Amino acid sequence: MDFIGKRVLVLGAGISGISVACVLQNRGAQVTLSDSKPQELLKNKDFSCIHESGVTLALGRQDEGLLEGVDWVVVSPGISINIPLIKSAKSRNIKVMSEIEVAYQICPAPILAVTGTNGKTTTTTLIGEMVKTTDRNVVVGGNIGLALSQEVAEVGEKGIVVAEISSFQLEGSIDFRPRVAAILNITPDHLDRHHSMENYIAMKERIFANQTSDDYIVLNYDDLTVREMASKVPSKVFFFSRQTELTSGIFVKDGMIIIKWQGKNYAVVPVSKIQLRGGHNIENVLAACGVAFFAGVSLSAMVKTLINFTGVEHRIEMVSTINGVTYYNDSKATNPESSIKALEAFDKNIILIAGGRDKNTDLTVFMQLIKEKVDHLILLGEAKERFEEAAIAQGVNQIHSVTSLAAAVQLAQQIAKKTQVVLLSPACASYDMFASYEERGKLFKKLVYEL
Ligand code: ADP
Repeated sequence: MDFIGKRVLVLGAGISGISVACVLQNRGAQVTLSDSKPQELLKNKDFSCIHESGVTLALGRQDEGLLEGVDWVVVSPGISINIPLIKSAKSRNIKVMSEIEVAYQICPAPILAVTGTNGKTTTTTLIGEMVKTTDRNVVVGGNIGLALSQEVAEVGEKGIVVAEISSFQLEGSIDFRPRVAAILNITPDHLDRHHSMENYIAMKERIFANQTSDDYIVLNYDDLTVREMASKVPSKVFFFSRQTELTSGIFVKDGMIIIKWQGKNYAVVPVSKIQLRGGHNIENVLAACGVAFFAGVSLSAMVKTLINFTGVEHRIEMVSTINGVTYYNDSKATNPESSIKALEAFDKNIILIAGGRDKNTDLTVFMQLIKEKVDHLILLGEAKERFEEAAIAQGVNQIHSVTSLAAAVQLAQQIAKKTQVVLLSPACASYDMFASYEERGKLFKKLVYEL
């Protein structure tokens, strides 16, 4: 795609919108950056590159007038492609794309891409660490850190890009073609945005839509929805499984991670040497090794990375041990499936702090596990009442209701006995009380340190 002289409307003045607007303007496009929020509400944003590069700002509006004379619309991940303005753009035959599509178009290096409902950041970070052991220039981005479009330009042809890709970003992909992709799992999430599970799955499948037989896709054999995608992919399939010994792929056998590929067997590392907690993280490890294998990472480099990798902040992150009680921050668990994974990573004796903005998904399995493993359930946030009802329905008796995270931590400290763990794993979004899950996790850590 040639950007020179193209009139581009970028929607959404977040990190990715601001970055992509500047990148495109600097490459010769005429860019307008628009956000429905007025300037006053965007005060904390850094618009310096916008001013320096000469991008036009159109803030506080989202009307059709923005589409006049526009060739392309670039949509930020936070904006649904189903809003009237984008429908209108499409009906005018204006090309609509996401920021990762722009990144793909300007990226000189091959892209390794990871998607799935849960585990993307952990897996992407791990792949990044593995690829960094090679002599290639590596960029890790996407949902993590800086916008991908900003970073890829610097990686060079001989480099490699590791990208975390959400279903929102895939909504607006056109030619996006990762050389190696991974789909970790698919469980109901973001259904408010995608409306149905079918749509959500279809969005995830776009990650391999443009792949060819020269490319690879790493798929979770244990997740039936993901396993069944194998029949639709145009690239070479490499399965990973925590439960089954595969005839080809990567799996665990007798506590050892094994790769079987094209008739050869490789013993990678014993699971016991991996520091990450929980079976779900074994799945992330398997997927990461699969992707790294096709990216040319040596087995010894893989092993070295796995042995040293302790995880990503806010994901079952060990905070501190106080009077024999260990506190874990799993603020990133913004849906019940994630919190289930965290509960499964521990034996019993858990004091669980949960609640926040409710995603309104079914809570039965989550509450059954709470009944089995949790000694005290401390609830907060908007989800409090529905969570309490669901907990009572499963026979959970020690339920406490609090009005702040500080009160939750204090209460946890009062009731916790030696050998118990206090786990913040909210199973909810954070937006009812915090700006982000990061803010929630950081406050939790601060409160624990203050104990
Ligand atoms: P994402 O970037 O997809 O949100 P993260 O790596 O940030 O994923 O992990 C978020 C949470 O999802 C973790 O705290 C954990 O509870 C859960 N999780 C991580 N990996 C998996 C997995 N493979 N399967 C299910 N849940 C997982």
